[in-house]
Amino acid sequence: MITDPQPPSLIVAILGAGPAGMSCANACLSFGLTPVVIERGDHAGGAQRANFHPNLWMLGAPGESGETMTRRMAEHYTSLPVQTRYRTEVAHVEGKGAGFNLTFMAHGGSPDPLHARAIVLATGMRPRATPELEQLAGASRGVIIGPLSDTIRDGIRDARVLILGGGDNALDHALFLAERGNRVVVCARRAFSARAGFLASCARRPEIELRAGSAPVDISLIGETLRARWTSGFEDFDWLLVMYGYRPNTDVLERFAPQLRPDMTASGHVHVDTWQRTSSPGIYAAGDITDSPQPSVPTAIAQGLAAARAIERDMGTT
Ligand SMILES: Cc1cc2nc3c(=O)[nH]c(=O)nc-3n(C[C@H](O)[C@H](O)[C@H](O)COP(=O)(O)OP(=O)(O)OC[C@H]3O[C@@H](n4cnc5c(N)ncnc54)[C@H](O)[C@@H]3O)c2cc1C
Repeated sequence: MITDPQPPSLIVAILGAGPAGMSCANACLSFGLTPVVIERGDHAGGAQRANFHPNLWMLGAPGESGETMTRRMAEHYTSLPVQTRYRTEVAHVEGKGAGFNLTFMAHGGSPDPLHARAIVLATGMRPRATPELEQLAGASRGVIIGPLSDTIRDGIRDARVLILGGGDNALDHALFLAERGNRVVVCARRAFSARAGFLASCARRPEIELRAGSAPVDISLIGETLRARWTSGFEDFDWLLVMYGYRPNTDVLERFAPQLRPDMTASGHVHVDTWQRTSSPGIYAAGDITDSPQPSVPTAIAQGLAAARAIERDMGTT
């Protein structure tokens, strides 16, 4: 049972303990609100927990990896008096009076109710893939969907790697893997959309072959080998990396009563105003689940803070 540590009118349910959710919870404390954070995973930190590359956007931490930066933030966050429920997801949300009745479900547990005055959606994004590729990833550890994992960093050496995707992540990973003795084929269905610098660096590496306007018609598992077929024939690979970009984690909204579901943007993100308010009164959104011009940790932190400030203001606690 989630205990209500403050009068129910002040409770803010925050979904997701990435930078946006952690920042929102921290700011809620400063504004006299009581955050209750629901996190699907085992830890706070979000997408950057796996980023072994130097962080690009956080001022004041030059050269620090995303992983280290996130660990620092998560250490601070877990030292705060914030009730965080890990391995837990929302099962149902409905409007109740001036707030919401939420039902949570811990993985393998029983339903847990909470009445919150406001909800903040901070569930971020996840890598995109086709259902066929998701299925292949379930069948083979040689198939990796999305960037930045311990396996990519430590486990792929002197191998044949196929990367699907034509953006920065695809080419950044091609360069990273080429430096580790791998031969890499990168297939972009259309033209490469990666930054010119990545394209030029890849073109200089003999271990990397860039194929624009090319996609295998089929990829199958033959023993431990991944066989990619083109109309012209087939090639075998040891690893397949799928770098098809991201999609916002909005699935959670399916568990909200229909009249509470906020408007979405054309790109499938949650639409917000400059105060992080969604079209549903009392529901706010922050971080990568919104359509931000530059998704990043600093952006998510700022939006989480702004959402808390908006809630304080909208609730009339100042
Ligand atoms: C390859 C790559 C490199 C990047 N490099 C940088 C960089 O160098 N610097 C930088 O600033 N940014 C970088 N970013 C962007 C940065 O990671 C994101 O902008 C930032 O993590 C967004 O924070 P968030 O809190 O919105 O989402 P996330 O960090 O994705 O956190 C969302 C959290 O919500 C949880 N969650 C998801 N669904 C549910 C649910 N239904 N219920 C409960 N919890 C849920 C997740 O488990 C997760 O903990 C990079 C991103 C990628 C993909």
